[in-house]
Amino acid sequence: MDCIFCQIVEGKIPAKKVFETDTIVAFPDINPSAETHILIVPKKHIAGMHDLALEHGPQLAEVYQVAKQLVSEYNLSDKQYRVVVNGGKAQHVPHLHFHLLGGNIKKLV
Ligand code: AMP
Ligand code: ZN
Repeated sequence: MDCIFCQIVEGKIPAKKVFETDTIVAFPDINPSAETHILIVPKKHIAGMHDLALEHGPQLAEVYQVAKQLVSEYNLSDKQYRVVVNGGKAQHVPHLHFHLLGGNIKKLV
């Protein structure tokens, strides 16, 4: 499958991973929309939000735990931050991911 994020997960495309567990990876967006712009990506290929089911609940909780940890690491709690999920025509990479935007946010992705 030629999914960019699956290839990053598999190490076939390089990314500067800032967080990784068995189930989640996070790395800076290649084209940042904010001072801090990190993509939090569940490793399992789920095309997008429209494919989420109740059984994905624990994975989503994990995503927000990672987001919380990154907010702390990047000292974003005294600044502004947002977690954004694009879908439909607003989504360009069809592998579920969460944008963590922080500090000076130039535009919503
Ligand atoms: P979305 O429109 O929500 O699908 O966003 C996809 C994001 O992935 C965009 O902000 C891109 O800049 C980012 N992106 C695409 N390819 C890479 C890559 N190889 N490494 C890091 N970020 C990427
Ligand atoms: Zn994928």
